[in-house]
Order: sequence, then structure tokens, then C-alpha cells
Amino acid sequence: MSQPYDRVFNFSAGPCTLPVEVLEEARDNLMNWKGHGLSVMEMSHRSKVYIDIQEEAEADLRDVFRVPENFEIIFAQGGASLQNTMIPMSFLGAGQTADYVVTGTWGKKSEEAAHFVGKVNLAYSGKDNNYSQAPDLTSLEYSPNSAYIHWTSNETIQGVEFKTDPKLPAPSVCDMSSNILSRPVDFSKYDLIYAGAQKNQGPAGVTIVILSQEMLEKTPAATHPMLDYRQYVSGDNMPNTPPCWSIYMCGLVYKWVRKEGGLEEMFRRNSEKAGIIYQAIDSSGGFYTGHAAKDCRSIMNVTFRLPSEELTNQFVKEAKAYKLDGLAGHRSVGGIRASIYNAFPKEGCETLASFMKDFACQNG
Ligand SMILES: *Cc1c(COP(=O)(O)O)cnc(C)c1O
Repeated sequence: MSQPYDRVFNFSAGPCTLPVEVLEEARDNLMNWKGHGLSVMEMSHRSKVYIDIQEEAEADLRDVFRVPENFEIIFAQGGASLQNTMIPMSFLGAGQTADYVVTGTWGKKSEEAAHFVGKVNLAYSGKDNNYSQAPDLTSLEYSPNSAYIHWTSNETIQGVEFKTDPKLPAPSVCDMSSNILSRPVDFSKYDLIYAGAQKNQGPAGVTIVILSQEMLEKTPAATHPMLDYRQYVSGDNMPNTPPCWSIYMCGLVYKWVRKEGGLEEMFRRNSEKAGIIYQAIDSSGGFYTGHAAKDCRSIMNVTFRLPSEELTNQFVKEAKAYKLDGLAGHRSVGGIRASIYNAFPKEGCETLASFMKDFACQNG
């Protein structure tokens, strides 16, 4: 089945596929945004027109993600990666310890960055299981008086995902970059959530940080302005020129999520889509092997291996004939990774599953 505009099935892990309707709306308003005579890209960020766009995006995110009133929403820059530094600078005081749960590459990066700032306890490392498991976070041993517990709800590279919102004994700080908005979340279990936009929200350039006022108040008085969460909250979310276009696009995606049925519907679709590919793995008689343990298989990034590197390369190459694009695993782990975020169509998963079956028949 051909896709609109002859587009490929884009399995890229990020930046990734966006809803066609959202791209169309952006295109239709590109030259003259709603009669204002200019593009959103060209507006002063201090103009009322733009401020309304940003405030609407924030309100739509609050609505669709059900962010409680006592949480602030921040549009930051520097990617999820900068949060790896901003978080310990803000919440890991002298003499304190922060706990890090490392279930994959991104958690490891977060932990490494925190060492530059203060004392870190590695509460869990999945290194010995080759980052294929998600432990029960409620039963790990954390440091006494932990400043916070940092974890990664979905490890994008390994395809390892936590399935619940754990109640933790210290502030829960979660990198939700690659599964934010993929399912409903219970905010009473979180203190800070952050996510780069380019996985499930919009184009790269903006990073969403959602933190409780209680966390915000912990920020030390002397913090560099651009690294101080308070500067975002008190300055209209604009300590400097924000990535206006990215925020605008995220706003369109939030509206799209709501229109499509909200997070419950996203979860239903994502589970169904992922199930189609996992089924193809499990019914291949061992030709394909999934990377993640079954109880923590990601519904956003499906990772699996073929019997050899040669076959993996051949698989990626032949898949292109079916417009299956971006399937090569991350360069650090190899294998195949099918990233199937909210906007990725179910037909793409069906096409991949059917290609997998044929490929295994011919090469198994
Ligand atoms: C992509 C990703 C990052 C890095 O995001 P940047 O915006 O490139 O800094 C961090 N954590 C997770 C879980 C990711 O998927």
C-alpha cells in the first residue's frame, strides 16, 4: 500500500516520523500564518501572536498529558542531554547523593554527567545482562536521604521499557524522551519528567521539562541563568529566544494526539503495532531474537537480531524495496531497531512483519 506523498515507512529513532496531518497543516500555513502575513518561523518571539501560540502549546500539553496544576512546564533547549547536567546542578547539593538506575545507553550517559556535579550512587546497572532488563524499581536499594532517583522509562537504543509508574522513596526524576505521550502517566509518582521533542512530540530543538513546584523550590539561589529552571518559569518560559518553530509544531502534535483519542488510544495503538512485530519475531523459529526480556519489551523501539551481521545488512538493504526505512540498529549495538512512535502507521508494522516472514523463509 502506498503512503501519502510517496513517503517511506520511517522507522527512525529520532528525529522521527510526524503525523501527515500535522505536516500538512504546517505546510498550508507556512507562508502566511492565519492571515498574519508571515510564517511562525519569522515572528518575533515577543509578539502577542507568537506568545499565544506558545501558551496554547503549553495548555494543550497540560491537557493531553494531564499535567497537574502543581507542575510547571518548561520549554528548554540543549536536548535531553543538557538535562543530564541541569538536573544534578539543581538538585544534587554538596554532601548529598543522587541515585541512578541504568538500564541502557541513555541512563548511562545521565549517570556519567552527574559525576561531574556531585556524589552518585549506581543503584542498578544492567551492564551484566547487556541492558536487556528493567528491574522492579520499588525494591532496589537506594542511598539514605537520596537527593533524587534518576531512571529512563524507555531505553531508546536497547528497546527496554518500564511498564508502570513506580512509587519511589525519593524524588522520581525520569528521562521520558522516547515514550512520553505513548501512554497515560500517574503524575503523583513523579517529581520531574523531561523529554527531547524529537521522539514523540515534534521536530528537534525543544526539550520539555515538567517539574513540581516542590522541586523548583529546591533550586539553589546561585544558579547560572540559562541553567536555572526558575528563569524559565518566571520569564514567560523565555529566558532567551525559544525554538519557536519546534514549539509550534509540538503544539500541533498535542492537538493531534487529543483529536485521535488521547493517551489511552495512543497506548492501544502502540501496543497493537508493537505486538505485530514482536509476533513476527516470536514466530520465526529462532531466526529473529528479541533483545529485551519479554516483560520489558518496548512498544516504541522494537529491537532484535538476525543470525549474522551479513544477514542484518542484507535485511536492511532489501527492506528498502518495501519502503521500510531506518531499520538499522544503533551503531553501538547493531541488529535491527524498528522505532514506531505515536505517529508511525500500523500498515508500516504489518509491512515489516510480512517482509520479516518472507526474509526468514528465504534465508533461514
Ligand atoms: C534521544 C534520547 C536522548 C538524547 O536526546 P537529545 O535531545 O539528543 O539530547 C536522551 N534520552 C533518551 C531516552 C533518548 O531517547
